[in-house]
Amino acid sequence: MPIRAVVWNENIHEQTNDIVRSIYPTGIHNAIADALNTDDAIEATTATLEEPDHGLTEDRLRQTDVLLWWGHKDHGAVSDEVVERVARRVWEGMGLIVLHSGHFSKPFKRLMGTPCALKWREAGERERLWVINPRHEIAKGLDDHFVLEHEEMYGEQFSVPEPLETVFISWFAGGEVFRSGMTWRRGAGNIFYFRPGHETYPTYHDVNVQTVLRNAVNWAYNPQAALTAIHDAPNVPVEQALEPIEERGEKLHQAGEAGYK
Ligand code: ZN
Repeated sequence: MPIRAVVWNENIHEQTNDIVRSIYPTGIHNAIADALNTDDAIEATTATLEEPDHGLTEDRLRQTDVLLWWGHKDHGAVSDEVVERVARRVWEGMGLIVLHSGHFSKPFKRLMGTPCALKWREAGERERLWVINPRHEIAKGLDDHFVLEHEEMYGEQFSVPEPLETVFISWFAGGEVFRSGMTWRRGAGNIFYFRPGHETYPTYHDVNVQTVLRNAVNWAYNPQAALTAIHDAPNVPVEQALEPIEERGEKLHQAGEAGYK
């Protein structure tokens, strides 16, 4: 069975800005889904902010292996209930790929627990992405670097937790550098942040960017069953201890009682 990927897009710029619409006539989400669907191992569909539950019902997320997230203009419009739903699924093992301005999206900030802020400049400058982890699955098929002629600059400090692995570092014509491809593990879920993707440039039509996205979906996929027990906090009674123990001292909880959450 192919990896079930859902490309989520807030889909606002495409409807309100002629330049963005001319680059992505069917939306950034469809451009990305089309690129993913050239890989037989992936079956990509889309979801947008305007759909009921933003297209991310409990049922849909249960049937999602990897979620990709592009948002920018109205992160605040994403309901906290859906954010919590996404976070829970990541902890249970769903992969999450956060793109570009999604660094400030609610699900990413929820899962990172830090401000996720950075420097930026919209000047169409050259970005050179260096592969600094050449045998990483996400860098498969790439040369030691690739160039995007027109991109928005993102500069350090990028206030995210120290990553599990750094796959790409970007250099910009203006001189700044940025850790543009990083991975984290949260619960049973794999998370990848990928920097490029400013809406006024044709970044998602770039063959190297598309290669990274396909690789990232394959990497983020966790084939194991959902780890739903990750939310549980069982109180193990004395008589069920693996080695015999004698209960002693004062106690607050009754045997088997649920803990406070
Ligand atoms: Zn941007």
